Amino acid sequence: METVVLRYGNTNTYLINGSSGGILVDTDMPGTIGAFFKEIKRHGIRIKDISFVMATHYHPDHMGLISELMDMGVRLLLVDIQNSHIHDWEAKIGSKPIDGESARIISIDESRSFLGELGIHGEMIHIPSHSEDSVGIMLDDGTLIAGDLSPISYLQSEPEVSQLRDDWNLILDHHPKLVLFAHSNQLVF
Ligand SMILES: [Zn+2]
Repeated sequence: METVVLRYGNTNTYLINGSSGGILVDTDMPGTIGAFFKEIKRHGIRIKDISFVMATHYHPDHMGLISELMDMGVRLLLVDIQNSHIHDWEAKIGSKPIDGESARIISIDESRSFLGELGIHGEMIHIPSHSEDSVGIMLDDGTLIAGDLSPISYLQSEPEVSQLRDDWNLILDHHPKLVLFAHSNQLVF
């Protein structure tokens, strides 16, 4: 299993490669498809290597390419708690509506067995401090893809942010070694 970081704008996109399929986590803003293709080509990745695309949460800088990738045959992976949020920003940013009907929808509890089908060892966790629909992907190798979660250092300056504390406590229970964020530097434990 390996996680590849793709950079073609302001959002880090991660491709988790399992033995039976890959999941692309987060995409940049709408309009970045050209830059995305350049970047995957640079890494020797083809669209058919990507079985599913998902967003850690449905803000514009994370869901921007989902509809276009779905048109190319990439399936949407949706955690059930995200389902009511997939259209939150589409009208405001003028992007094509995401076809949620065709998505594979899983619960947090089902995530480990689902990932296992792709040969990916890990599970999803619900970390709603950034937004209600935010999920993280916690891999058994100790890598966490955390989306827009605020760094743990924020807890020192803002100790009253209790949801952020709850999120980090949940993460620490999983003994992470490396936390990958969508916009900031990675955190090594
Ligand atoms: Zn973001």
